[in-house]
Amino acid sequence: MSHSRGHVIVVGAGIAGLSTAWALMRRGFKVSVFEQGPIPNPRATSYDEHRITRHAYGTLEGYAYLMPRAFALYEEMFKDIGARHFAPGSVVYFLRDDVDWFEPVSRSMAALGKGMHEIPLGAVPDRFPMIETKSLARCVETEEGGMLFPIRILTDLTVFLGNAGVSFHADARVSDVDPEAGTLVANGEIHRADRIVIAAGAWVNKITPVVADAVIPSRQAVMYLSPPAEYVEAWKSVPVLIDLGTESGTYTLPPRMGTRLKVGDHVFTRSGDADGDRIATEADVARLNRAARLAYRYFDRYQVLEKKICFYTVTRDPSEEFQVKPWGRKAWVVSACSGHGFKLGPLIGDGVAAAIAGERSDGDTVRLAAGRMSLDEARAL
Ligand SMILES: Cc1cc2nc3c(=O)[nH]c(=O)nc-3n(C[C@H](O)[C@H](O)[C@H](O)COP(=O)(O)OP(=O)(O)OC[C@H]3O[C@@H](n4cnc5c(N)ncnc54)[C@H](O)[C@@H]3O)c2cc1C
Repeated sequence: MSHSRGHVIVVGAGIAGLSTAWALMRRGFKVSVFEQGPIPNPRATSYDEHRITRHAYGTLEGYAYLMPRAFALYEEMFKDIGARHFAPGSVVYFLRDDVDWFEPVSRSMAALGKGMHEIPLGAVPDRFPMIETKSLARCVETEEGGMLFPIRILTDLTVFLGNAGVSFHADARVSDVDPEAGTLVANGEIHRADRIVIAAGAWVNKITPVVADAVIPSRQAVMYLSPPAEYVEAWKSVPVLIDLGTESGTYTLPPRMGTRLKVGDHVFTRSGDADGDRIATEADVARLNRAARLAYRYFDRYQVLEKKICFYTVTRDPSEEFQVKPWGRKAWVVSACSGHGFKLGPLIGDGVAAAIAGERSDGDTVRLAAGRMSLDEARAL
């Protein structure tokens, strides 16, 4: 392949970096990926058995508008890698307190033409026998979501990109990025490119000051579980379950297609260092255990298979907007990490590649990544 469009170095081989490499390679750029660990890296935020994808986006309506294009780009990626690492399904929400969720979701789902409906509370015990119904106020099912399988996506994408001519540099921690000269240092050597994209996940503030005022790393815990015998069958057929209670707030991915049952929460710790230890203590999972006991019946009967520590960056303000910005003349910083970045990885990577290729203005790419496009703009992507 000719690389007449120039050479781009991508730093980081998580979903953001690999998606950006994919989108650039498809546009005819020469791409090199530098990753501080193995590729894919088990310490990366992206590296996990499953991730939720969905159109329902709560109050972040701008991200809901991006979801049809995000789903479409994953389908294009699956075609390229030759495997559809996606289990489509609905997502069911359990509302216990007065949360600002139903109105914005009804609005955005209607605008997108996507279905949602109430499940009568009387039907919950039959369909979801594992759910604690005490204090349950409402149950809502949203259509067209499901689970992505990240480890398989990252692995197959790496193989595909390598075969397509992308050069990979594993165990190459990058430092000293010069965004004006287009240079960086890895393993004591200086490397130069026409453009540099930094997609360093929870390490981003160690490599660039550009988003340090906006994002902070957050140590998060999830648990993988084996359900008690009486719920094994039920877990085989339930979709993704999300509890929106203030105290009981959890998200749960069922065991499907070779994955384990996983439960986590979205209470950000806003502390920790992604280079630090990854040993989950009882303190790390204390809040999650309390919440899960309120969300699930007989939660103490589940066997814990693994307590896992992972990191993402979250915004210092409550916006949860991805921070994707040009840096100097020659670099972009892509901090599309946070608790909702996997489903949007290919869309953000494509946006950055479009800006580098001159197909879209830098400003529009920044707005797209921040979820600030109107429905009409998102439809035109
Ligand atoms: C527990 C949990 C649950 C989540 N659930 C969901 C979900 O259900 N749905 C969803 O859409 N999203 C979810 N997310 C968020 C999603 O996983 C992240 O937003 C996304 O994976 C971030 O990808 P990334 O490529 O930006 O970061 P990463 O995957 O962390 O990739 C960054 C890479 O850069 C490398 N790197 C860093 N610094 C350097 C350097 N100096 N030199 C070279 N390489 C470097 C790292 O080693 C790493 O491999 C969840 C996240 C967590 C932690």
